[in-house]
Amino acid sequence: MTMKKPAAAAKKTDAASSAAKRKVAPPTLVRGMRDLLNPEWAYRDKMYDIARKISMDYEYDRIETPVMEETALFVRGIGKMTDIVEKEMYSFETVGGEKVTLRPEATAPVSRAYLQHGMLNRPQPVKLWYWGPMYRHDRPQSGRYRQFTQFGCECIGDSAAVLDAQQAFIAWKVLDLLGIESVVHINSIGTPESRANYKNALVAYFRTKKHKLSEDDKKRLAKNPMRLLDSKDPGMDELKAEAPQIVDWLDEASKAHFMQVLEYLDEMGVPYQLDPYLVRGLDYYTKTVFEIFAVSEDPEVSKLALGGGGRYDGLIEQLGGNPTPACGFSLGVDRVINRLREIDPELGSKTEPREVYVAQLGDQGRKKAFAIFEQLRAAGIRASGALSKDAIKAQMELANKRGAKWAIIIGQKEVLDGTVIIRDMDSGTQETVDAKKIVHEIQRKLGV
Ligand code: AMP
Repeated sequence: MTMKKPAAAAKKTDAASSAAKRKVAPPTLVRGMRDLLNPEWAYRDKMYDIARKISMDYEYDRIETPVMEETALFVRGIGKMTDIVEKEMYSFETVGGEKVTLRPEATAPVSRAYLQHGMLNRPQPVKLWYWGPMYRHDRPQSGRYRQFTQFGCECIGDSAAVLDAQQAFIAWKVLDLLGIESVVHINSIGTPESRANYKNALVAYFRTKKHKLSEDDKKRLAKNPMRLLDSKDPGMDELKAEAPQIVDWLDEASKAHFMQVLEYLDEMGVPYQLDPYLVRGLDYYTKTVFEIFAVSEDPEVSKLALGGGGRYDGLIEQLGGNPTPACGFSLGVDRVINRLREIDPELGSKTEPREVYVAQLGDQGRKKAFAIFEQLRAAGIRASGALSKDAIKAQMELANKRGAKWAIIIGQKEVLDGTVIIRDMDSGTQETVDAKKIVHEIQRKLGV
């Protein structure tokens, strides 16, 4: 049996389907990008406050470089053969034909700014801190994002070992203040000269083991042999254990510098671990290099570095400046926050109760409520309110939800009389007070 569709219903269905056809798919995020919503911000704000305070306490000045720089800055600064420059940069040509890159890190941009603003004429060292987004076209996974935030400090214009130690200390201290237990992995990669000798020894050693290397590691051997030391190939552990170690190839000055850095860390009680395989992925490092890892029973947690840094005495010269020693660190904010969320899951769900709720009836009441809310806010009283609401019952429910001890109610009559009602939300008792005295009245009730 066939049923005939009533004409009106058929029309409706057709209209609905053509509307569906017209509708465009909602926009989605670009792969590897994230929206940062609550509860994330409770954690971010906490870290930001600590990072800002400690930077200021240690007399670092704030710097903010643009997210976009000339591509050449990173190619020259970070090094052509590094993973970042070879594979991970968001580089493109602008309509004007400029070759630009979204910054994958901030040390090269801060060094560029140091040169550009003639900071070498200021008392040295110049100490700068930053907090902002970085971009790397890496494979997205937990703790590895294409846009991520780094907090970092750079100390430019001084070669003293105590400054290397201070960088590691500050990075560690930020984590400590957040309640995150961490350990600094540290190594020295010497001067470019001592490193060249070490590289030769390393290549000679790994050539004899070439048949045991993965295809990726064979490529590393040809292009950037020191990266073999942080190869993730499980078969490499045994080969690495037998490989020459950089400490044995350090020049005397680098060795003495490294010993001093360790002594300062001992003095400051920073937990550290010597890591002969730590070489860092960026070419600009000299002498001290370090990375910081969370301490945890869970190998997944302690696998990803929370931060890294070291000395980069050659970078400013490489960028066209005078030889200028420098050191710095950066913490990966997103990874630190991930850790913080694991150890303090409550923080994100805490909402501050409001002291007062401002409720209104009618349009005149709404105008007054708008103004009174602002007076309370300006006086530092934590108020809540929902100006768009009309029904008083619904507003009292909201007042209870927000934990308000007092509600201020402004209706038509109160507007005419120049008064407001204050309601005790626990007992339900109400009193009428002069609208002009409302802030004072509430302060008196709150005992402030
Ligand atoms: P790096 O200078 O590459 O060692 O980066 C410093 C810190 O930034 C690392 O220790 C990480 O905590 C963080 N970081 C680097 N790359 C990423 C990424 N793709 N996603 C999230 N955090 C990152």
